[in-house]
Amino acid sequence: MTHALPVGVPTGMWLGGKQIEPEDRARFPVLDPATGEILAEVVDAEAADGLQALDLAVAAQDDWAATAPRVRSEILRTAFDLVVERAETFARVISMEMGKPLPEARGEVSYGAEFLRWFAEEAVRIGGRTTSSPSGSGRILVTKEPVGPVLAITPWNFPLAMATRKIGPALAAGCPIIVKPAAETPLTMLLLGRVFADAGLPDGLLSILPTTDAAALTGPLLADPRLRKVTFTGSTGVGKLLVRQSADNLQRTSMELGGNAPFLVFADADLDAAVDGAMAAKMRNGGEACTAANRFLVAREIADEFTDRLTTRMSALRCGHGLDAGTDVGPLITDRQRATVDRLVTDAVGRGARLRTGGKISDGPGSFYPPTVLDRVPADAPILREEIFGPVATVTTFDDEDEAITSANDTEYGLVAYLFTRDLDRAIRVSSALNAGMVGVNRGVVSDVAAPFGGVKSSGFGREGAVEGIEEYLDVKYIAL
Ligand code: NAD
Repeated sequence: MTHALPVGVPTGMWLGGKQIEPEDRARFPVLDPATGEILAEVVDAEAADGLQALDLAVAAQDDWAATAPRVRSEILRTAFDLVVERAETFARVISMEMGKPLPEARGEVSYGAEFLRWFAEEAVRIGGRTTSSPSGSGRILVTKEPVGPVLAITPWNFPLAMATRKIGPALAAGCPIIVKPAAETPLTMLLLGRVFADAGLPDGLLSILPTTDAAALTGPLLADPRLRKVTFTGSTGVGKLLVRQSADNLQRTSMELGGNAPFLVFADADLDAAVDGAMAAKMRNGGEACTAANRFLVAREIADEFTDRLTTRMSALRCGHGLDAGTDVGPLITDRQRATVDRLVTDAVGRGARLRTGGKISDGPGSFYPPTVLDRVPADAPILREEIFGPVATVTTFDDEDEAITSANDTEYGLVAYLFTRDLDRAIRVSSALNAGMVGVNRGVVSDVAAPFGGVKSSGFGREGAVEGIEEYLDVKYIAL
């Protein structure tokens, strides 16, 4: 069944508080990944549009920084109210362009909106401090200043939430922001442009520039010293490139990059809770999440029972269009992403892994991949090293706690780790030993607007959400008195 996009979704870029559709710009198609059909044709922004957005941001910067925090806060709060009011439209658009089931898209809308409310509250709490010089010769006044114009580059997997957790703190801190959404999912962001225009955000503070040539648009911006910050969510490779590009002008950077989350199940775990947690950690967003459990490490004595139960749950999931009732798992974002997942699974099976369910691409339209479980995965299989970004669970075993920790940490990434145990001492000991920015204890989901989200090692640096989130957009200034 063909599903129609909600009426009135913008298809032009947002520049200077307005939707712009220049006649001389090309357009590019946005596809429904469940059918391959074209949902809309969106204006393809060019380098000149990026530089115009920066001109507007620079012109708006000082007034916005001087605007009362309460006024900044109220605009963000109004934007939150409008997203909530328009939640169903947002959810349908997210589901259609990204593929996730509608209930999950609704979940993203409330999670994404929450960053606008949270940072509306933080806007009025930007503090500082005073201390005395030890010599007694003076006082030290420490203040926080907006870092200046920001470039945000966002991925397709959470097209609303990955952007609001950058836009919210940037505007709260007093910074203008230019958003380059992923080309696969620009429509959600263009809808958000209208929200901010309706919320009364002054012109020039938020520009939204969809493009098929990300590097051509962002390169000149990073080469311009008036840009003061780049915040990125996406793959580690692109993150490294952006950090290199930011070096010439020493722009501040926040990098939320890839993950390879271990999920440890100890023999004393509540197995029902562990399987529920496994389903949440693996299947949220169909596995297309940087927080997705990539490697299930299970105590040998319970591994068969855990895998049997996980296999039963995974094989009961129904794939389908995100808007169809009864769909548990949508398509992957593109055929290319599906081919990557298929390659990893086929390779692992070729090396001796046992396929418990799934593993076979069905015929028909859409980038669907079935929920898959592999156990007895050999240690050298690339599927244990690379981020899968799909609905595939790999199970391996351990014999003791030290081995579990060593295996869990045997990755270049360090975003999140999960562990299930009933032993509080072990929970604390293992949490401390895991090299990750976040640890879920007896929980399969860690994301929370009030928690600092972010990683270590190749998962990047910087934190989003929480009280830490706004600091990424503030410079510290010291005034000697
Ligand atoms: P990606 O790195 O290919 O793309 C992310 C964004 O960067 C897109 O907007 C893309 O257009 C842009 N981009 C690509 N090449 C660029 C270039 N040369 N210059 C400037 N911009 C460029 O990643 P993806 O495939 O869209 O997203 C999946 C990745 O994102 C996964 O690795 C996942 O783990 C990661 N991710 C991380 C988090 C987190 O918070 N840590 C959250 C979601 C996704």
